[in-house]
Amino acid sequence: MLVAQFIKPGNLSIVDYPIRKLNDDELLIEISACGVCGTDFHIYKGDAPASFPIIPGHEYSGVIADKGASATEFNIEDHVAIDPNIYCGYCNECRNGRVNFCENHKALGVTLNGGFAEYSIAPSKQAYLLPKDFPLSDAAFAEPLSCCIRGIDRAEIKCGDNVVIVGGGTIGLLMLQLAKLRGAAVVALIEPITSKQNVALNLGANFVLAPDDSVSINNLIELTHGGFDVVLECVGSKDAVEQSNRLIRRGGTLVIFGLADKSSYINLNLFDIFRKEISIKTSFLNPFTFQRAINLLASGRINVRAIQPKQYTIQDIKKVFNSNSSSDVIKYQIINKKKEAR
Ligand SMILES: [Zn+2]
Ligand SMILES: [Zn+2]
Repeated sequence: MLVAQFIKPGNLSIVDYPIRKLNDDELLIEISACGVCGTDFHIYKGDAPASFPIIPGHEYSGVIADKGASATEFNIEDHVAIDPNIYCGYCNECRNGRVNFCENHKALGVTLNGGFAEYSIAPSKQAYLLPKDFPLSDAAFAEPLSCCIRGIDRAEIKCGDNVVIVGGGTIGLLMLQLAKLRGAAVVALIEPITSKQNVALNLGANFVLAPDDSVSINNLIELTHGGFDVVLECVGSKDAVEQSNRLIRRGGTLVIFGLADKSSYINLNLFDIFRKEISIKTSFLNPFTFQRAINLLASGRINVRAIQPKQYTIQDIKKVFNSNSSSDVIKYQIINKKKEAR
């Protein structure tokens, strides 16, 4: 099968890769679509941990092509989305319900081969059944959505809260919709690129502002009587976190969601955050949120079509990793069979 492989940081190759024999509990999935995540760019640059060489890609959906003897929950031809995070179930963290901190955590596309390939092998417990008529390219958003649900749970948004999202990429645009579902009164989005601002407006954002538009941002802080109840940081940069801190009202909650470089630090004024009594939270992986993500996608409550992923085949994947991050493409997807991914 044709796969994309990170041989080591900065070295991406398209190779012919053998499909190994399945273990009893495994599924062979013919991949339809696999989203390209910010994390994949970090892995490619060598500033997020991964096992090399690796077939990356952890946001994928496809059709079951074969299954091991004990994978009785699924049938050949079933459509599934894959939760890439594999927890051991027996370490101290797992046994205390904190599976996302599993001491033996493995992830398809990060420490095990993943979805930038024609086929992927996954333990059957990682697969989530999709309605047959649900588009598989939309289902490839289940993984990022499941992570966003974790972030939204951590934010504890109450109906009537004012919420601002910093960063209008895929994550910010999913968070925007989730914040509205949670009953936010006002949802604002801070994002420099106009095309992303427009998608946010189409998805119901009340305000969209550029991060350097300090006049409008100050007006918004005034309009919300001193700042937002909840700020969701979805960039992963020092500037974005520091701006998030300026947007939050006294007693508010900041969720730092974006994945930053390993060398990033923030500068917060201790007296300022003391007086504001803010809660600063982070959000890690997607413990027990994958089924809810599938439910929201299948019911049409979350619109991923508006994000309009730009699709490339495995053969063309280098164009994605050579693209520059300020382009107005919100999401890239690697698709295997065009017919099925649409
Ligand atoms: Zn991801
Ligand atoms: Zn564990």
